[in-house]
Amino acid sequence: MEKILFLAHTEADGSLSQAGLEALTAAKTLAQGLGAGFDAALFGADAAAAANAVAGCGAGTFFCVSGQAFAQARYATDAAAITTLCQAAEATIVVCADDSRLSRAVPGAAHRLGGRADTHVTALAAKDGAAFVQRWHYRQRMYAEVTRVQRPWFVTVSGGVFPASDVAPGQAAVQAVTVADVATRTTVKEILAPSADEQTIRPDAALLFVAGAGWTKKQADGQPHTPEAAELILGFTTKAQASLGSSKSLVDMGGEGQAVLPFLTHLHQVGQTGATPRHPKGLATCCHGEEPHVVGWRFIGERRAVNLDAGCGWAQGKCDVLYVADAFAVMRLVNAMIG
Ligand SMILES: Cc1cc2nc3c(=O)[nH]c(=O)nc-3n(C[C@H](O)[C@H](O)[C@H](O)COP(=O)(O)OP(=O)(O)OC[C@H]3O[C@@H](n4cnc5c(N)ncnc54)[C@H](O)[C@@H]3O)c2cc1C
Repeated sequence: MEKILFLAHTEADGSLSQAGLEALTAAKTLAQGLGAGFDAALFGADAAAAANAVAGCGAGTFFCVSGQAFAQARYATDAAAITTLCQAAEATIVVCADDSRLSRAVPGAAHRLGGRADTHVTALAAKDGAAFVQRWHYRQRMYAEVTRVQRPWFVTVSGGVFPASDVAPGQAAVQAVTVADVATRTTVKEILAPSADEQTIRPDAALLFVAGAGWTKKQADGQPHTPEAAELILGFTTKAQASLGSSKSLVDMGGEGQAVLPFLTHLHQVGQTGATPRHPKGLATCCHGEEPHVVGWRFIGERRAVNLDAGCGWAQGKCDVLYVADAFAVMRLVNAMIG
């Protein structure tokens, strides 16, 4: 019988993240499919408090590593905590979110325990009494169902695949776990984070707004209108709290030092050599919809595009709705409508 373990770290406010609660649903789904129970493993400044907050999730035992050393992301302490927790729980399958903290530490823990890790998993279930995961390959062009015999098997689950668990708090059956002394050469001094308005990549947003190179091209009057483009794009994404994405052409121009849209970086790039976001809806503007770009839209639920060209790539079956229109005019109106 598999011993399934849900693994998470606490956030700065002591809670579990949305991604963590999604991974909790994934662990529960797998346990139900296999007819097994599951345990939880939490680490952070006060993991026992976080365990009480999700006490009603159905986990048997909550293995907890608590302490200031585990409050911040740091490879040495995180990998040691994960390794010790998995040993304490005698886990065979460990399910967690694929956030940056766990993605960094989980492979090391898997190696120490002689196990394996599969990352960015988009499905996790039981088939014929055995667990399998689904992973996308070759920049999301094909997927495979994978199962493994090595244990422990670590599975990091992509955000937006499972709904977040909505669980009642209570008194969790906590088993405190102590981690042997870990050599730590890294000291976390300060976290520098941009303000909410400067941070335009919003993975949890309902809408992805993609800007293409057309925003900086010469328009009908023979002139580019880059400052207005910047105003319209940021005006919309700020008001709608949409996540901002870009085509490669547009961010490459910025990298070449041309006067373009200063708030775009390669982190905004969607596509084959960029990101594969998972928003329920997406709107592409002034973007041609070429395959290397659209492949990054694999997991966008509903796709719409605004382009002057009725024969653009989006029109070739790549979006649900194509508005053949001037994106400047459209976004001026949209921004006015949302105030
Ligand atoms: C190996 C490889 C990997 C790549 N990886 C990526 C990737 O990860 N991501 C990516 O994006 N690209 C990638 N590309 C590049 C990709 O093929 C395209 O070149 C790129 O996506 C084009 O960007 P664009 O659509 O913004 O620009 P363009 O092709 O220049 O399109 C601009 C569009 O704007 C429209 N337009 C102009 N003015 C307006 C207006 N006022 N209103 C409405 N529409 C207007 C035009 O009609 C045009 O369709 C890759 C290419 C290769 C070879």
